[in-house]
Amino acid sequence: VKIVVGMATSGIASGAQAVYDALAKEIANRGLDIVLSKAGSMGMDCIEPIVDVIAPGKPRLSFSKMTAKMVPILIDRVVNGDLNGIQPAYRMDEMELLLQGEKKAYFSGSVPVDCSGIPQINELPFYRKQVKIALRNCGMIDPENMDEYIARGGYTALHKALTTMSPEDVILEVKTSGLRGRGGGGFPTGTKWESCRRAEGEIKYVICNGDEGDPGAYMDRSLMEGDPHSVLEGMIIGAYAIGAHEGYIYVRNEYPLAVANLQHAIGQAREAGLLGKNILGTGFEFDIKIAKGAGAFVCGESTALMASLEGKAGEPRAKYIHTVEQGLWNRPSNLNNVETWANVPVIIARGGQWFSGIGVKHSTGTKVFSLVGKINNIGLVEVPMGIPLKDIIYEIGGGIPGGRKFKAVQTGGPSGGCIPDTMIDLPVDFDSLWEAGSMMGSGGMIVMDDKTCMVDIARYFIEFLVSESCGKCVPCREGIYRMNEILQDICAGKGRRGDLELLGRMAEAIKDGSLCALGGSAPNPVLSTIRYFRSEYDAHIRSKK
Ligand code: SF4
Repeated sequence: VKIVVGMATSGIASGAQAVYDALAKEIANRGLDIVLSKAGSMGMDCIEPIVDVIAPGKPRLSFSKMTAKMVPILIDRVVNGDLNGIQPAYRMDEMELLLQGEKKAYFSGSVPVDCSGIPQINELPFYRKQVKIALRNCGMIDPENMDEYIARGGYTALHKALTTMSPEDVILEVKTSGLRGRGGGGFPTGTKWESCRRAEGEIKYVICNGDEGDPGAYMDRSLMEGDPHSVLEGMIIGAYAIGAHEGYIYVRNEYPLAVANLQHAIGQAREAGLLGKNILGTGFEFDIKIAKGAGAFVCGESTALMASLEGKAGEPRAKYIHTVEQGLWNRPSNLNNVETWANVPVIIARGGQWFSGIGVKHSTGTKVFSLVGKINNIGLVEVPMGIPLKDIIYEIGGGIPGGRKFKAVQTGGPSGGCIPDTMIDLPVDFDSLWEAGSMMGSGGMIVMDDKTCMVDIARYFIEFLVSESCGKCVPCREGIYRMNEILQDICAGKGRRGDLELLGRMAEAIKDGSLCALGGSAPNPVLSTIRYFRSEYDAHIRSKK
């Protein structure tokens, strides 16, 4: 029997460490032959701590909201084979093994316990419409155990790429997939790789952007914590395609578990001959180092990130020369974010054509979102691109707590925009979100109910950006500072007639004149809330004190 505790940061924050310790103690005290293991986040973080029981001949049973007090009862049930008295939240009889493309039973043999009242995981509204590609292993494997990654098809794509494909073949496959960067910009990944491969220079770098800093966003953290080898495998494949021999993962220092799991995974990969010299006996050489960021939001911007990696202040530079030509230490450098890299092994294993069949035209595949705010099912979700917003809010998210009315959702982080309830049928893909005045961003999705003041939301995001602006260029440094002053006044009942027009003019100037995307997109929360919720601004200004 194996017992698995969800030990991502979300689980630990809910008390998983106490549950894990209680399980370890109980198993030791009773002298039981039970393997105790850890896993990342399965996604439904609102029901953590989650404990899975895997017994031969039985489905994998997941128990939610576990406490240390419930542990002796759970162990009694496991020992007696009787699962009455403590009800699992869901079961996993079979899972689609993505790399093989077929469903496989977890265990052969019959299911001796009566599972009639226990829903299969894919029957739960939270999971029914999800398609897990990037998150395929999160919550399923022990991130510290490379064998578990390999058992689910890990590193087969690397083997395929290095032994049967040329670098050009790999790039073509990624281009065929239509994969666009999941970090915010949405630039076609294969095209970026091709430009970097073609760029002149002996030394090239591949970099993973793990500097996730948007309020409410934790997609990349969960991936690095729960499935670090998928990121490494994607990077090794990318390095082979581009012709790079050195790689960096830039992770924010506030993610200690992600750093530890990545570091551990790098050590295992080196030992297994998957990193270092002569990878898989092919002569290809590549290694990865981890660099820790100091928590500046702007360091998620490519040129600022590379400056920070060089040991300089994390400030962006003008991109008249692209980083694929002159990036880190002025060498050709290819930067993709964590989720983008994690998609790569599946694309190589199953083919670009397969991947492009998921999602919609120009937005293929899936996208991971952290669904937070005023929503019943808070958690990490992976959905096919183009899914209607209402499916995420009402079906996966389970609607708004207390039966309140859905008002808006902020996508794209602080530089994104608010989508109002009237656009609940909007397909969630790169282009539709952009047309609606927001953006995909890296995947934060903050839901608001009818009690939320949209002016206050705009003020909150602008205030965040004021504190995160690096101050290098005037339109951003001074412009969003002034926008913040106006918004503070409006929220304090000191708004003036003409404020909205002034905000609109300032927004245009800031968008046009800012050096990097932080300033260029900073006015979005203000513009989108004025566009969709102008009456709230007017009401604030009318009620001037
Ligand atoms: Fe810095 Fe803002 Fe200018 Fe970007 S736009 S370089 S964050 S001051």
